[in-house]
Amino acid sequence: MLLPLRRRQADVIRRRLLAFYDRHRRDLPWRGSRDPYAILVSEVMLQQTTVAAVVPYYERFLARFPDLRSLARASEEEVLTVWAGLGYYRRARSLREACRQIVHRYGGHLPGTVAALRELPGIGPYTAGAVASIAFNLPEPVLDGNVVRVLARLAARSGRGSGERRLLEQAARTLVEGRRPGDLNQAVMELGATICTPTKPACGACPVARSCSARREGLPEKYPEALRRQSPQQRRGVVLVVRHDGGRVYLVQRRAESLMPGLWELPGLSGQEKDCVALEPRSVARAARRQLGQSVVLGKRLGSFQHTVVNRRVKVEVRIARLRPHGRSGVARAAVRSVDPGCDPMPPVTAATRKALEVAGFSPRAWIPAGGGQ
Ligand code: SF4
Repeated sequence: MLLPLRRRQADVIRRRLLAFYDRHRRDLPWRGSRDPYAILVSEVMLQQTTVAAVVPYYERFLARFPDLRSLARASEEEVLTVWAGLGYYRRARSLREACRQIVHRYGGHLPGTVAALRELPGIGPYTAGAVASIAFNLPEPVLDGNVVRVLARLAARSGRGSGERRLLEQAARTLVEGRRPGDLNQAVMELGATICTPTKPACGACPVARSCSARREGLPEKYPEALRRQSPQQRRGVVLVVRHDGGRVYLVQRRAESLMPGLWELPGLSGQEKDCVALEPRSVARAARRQLGQSVVLGKRLGSFQHTVVNRRVKVEVRIARLRPHGRSGVARAAVRSVDPGCDPMPPVTAATRKALEVAGFSPRAWIPAGGGQ
């Protein structure tokens, strides 16, 4: 494929992609829907997250918030509770805020143009293009990682840098300016996800192999040029399962300026340098006292788990603890609540807290949020 993409070649590629999509697309729960709200939810969830991870969350989210108005009416905590575990929580907050604005400004109807969609919180060019093309059948291109990879390989271009990016965007626009724009965008993404994968693309099964310059060169994986990634930093952490009143444990709320603000987690100390003295039991107990406003006594180690947050791999140790009788107390730095994970509906908690409570022996069934079906 040559860039800029000529109309006649675009017609051939489009026809093959649509035929591939009709025959081989995966049966995903959002694919049958023409509801713009459901399509918006799926596209927001799919940002930086795999299809396999999204499917159960999407179904649970729509069962709990079946339409735009129900999401706009929900509290932030309700929304985060159903979203908890999917990560990138800003997406959930922005989605709820976008729905509130749609109710307020558009009478509850999702606007159908890219310009109006882009004015809503959390909706960038990719999501706006996807919603406009899939829900409203508008010829708007999308350029996510899968699309960049497919187009860069078809044209044997590096795909890096603003000039290259513009060329790929033009190609995506030329391709989508035909019939079935929403299906065409999904076809390119589907090809990137299932056949033109980052490593070992299955060129033998590819519907557009005859138009592919990278395949002709014999080394398709060379395109697009790889981004240099930093290796993750190694960290250590300790979290405390502070028990009281039988089965209850304390949770503290993450502060507004932190990553994942508003979510609940076990008290403790995390993100410290590997082998740092800050993870001595005394430092952990001091950190917990600041969070809970009460002194704690550390008990035995229950186990550990690996957890990755953004560019950090953290080895987290889970320890049991109890409140120190007649210990020093003060004002807790964080909001504190106690829950019985076996019985109570859980507030939205971090993924690390889920893992820690599972290490501590709480059943995953305890993660059923109120009204949800996790
Ligand atoms: S022929 Fe291979 S490299 Fe080219 S688009 Fe198809 S799968 Fe990707």
